[in-house]
Amino acid sequence: MPSTHTLGSITVTALLDGTGPFFQPRAAAFDGATEAQWREADRRDPDAVGPDGGWMLPFRAFALRRGDGPVTLVDAGIGPADALAAGWAPVPGRLPDELAAAGIDPADVRTVVLTHLHSDHVGWAGPLFGNADHLVQRAELAALELFHPELPARLLGPLRADGRLRVVDGDTDLTPGVRVLSTPGHTPGHQSVLVEQGDDRLLVTGDLLVHAIQLIDPALPYAHEENPPEARRTRERILRTLSPSSWPPPPDRPFTPTPTCTPPDPVDHEVGGIFDLRNCR
Ligand SMILES: [Zn+2]
Repeated sequence: MPSTHTLGSITVTALLDGTGPFFQPRAAAFDGATEAQWREADRRDPDAVGPDGGWMLPFRAFALRRGDGPVTLVDAGIGPADALAAGWAPVPGRLPDELAAAGIDPADVRTVVLTHLHSDHVGWAGPLFGNADHLVQRAELAALELFHPELPARLLGPLRADGRLRVVDGDTDLTPGVRVLSTPGHTPGHQSVLVEQGDDRLLVTGDLLVHAIQLIDPALPYAHEENPPEARRTRERILRTLSPSSWPPPPDRPFTPTPTCTPPDPVDHEVGGIFDLRNCR
């Protein structure tokens, strides 16, 4: 059963499409990380360490829903066997089974927010969610040369032809309590999704944060950021704006408590997916 997290009347469900080893030694992904930082990251997120000491990567999507109303899905996973990510990710993913286990009919998904257009975030976008607009930042579409060459023909063109490609510029309100934030750097039009209900806040980060080591040192560049200085500025701005400044004890998966907010009860966690702000004041 997928993990859920509730803020007010909104339920956030973490859907695991697949898990697989990163395609490089992890030290190459975070050049400059120290041994002490790796030890602390491994202590906080032991599931991210594979049997050979490499980086074990969960590929997630997140469903946001108020009651039994329409669903907003954030990211679309690695996709089926013939997906664009097939060359490196552990396809086929199992998002359809995860949705079924969560009681979500894909027909009830009305919005798919694509945090960015890397192949492990767009896998199930398109036909599976036939009633959904797909929301992408204009800056991302202006940089298509960065992405899989088949992306326009296989996904963006058909969505545009159906009138289901929704292009936005910068921060954008989606539904009451749900807002897209522009978080560029990993890619030019990267976006994250902020959920706010009363004093509770939660951020679905996308690849703004991809590993616990970036919570230990947000200045650490990730090798696959298009613009590392911009990614660092965005990461530091978001962490400064949305959270205070000390770290909680190791959290449970798959939701991550914010660095200074000590939750009154166990909170699930996942780095690289969601940032739980509910106890920040
Ligand atoms: Zn990415």
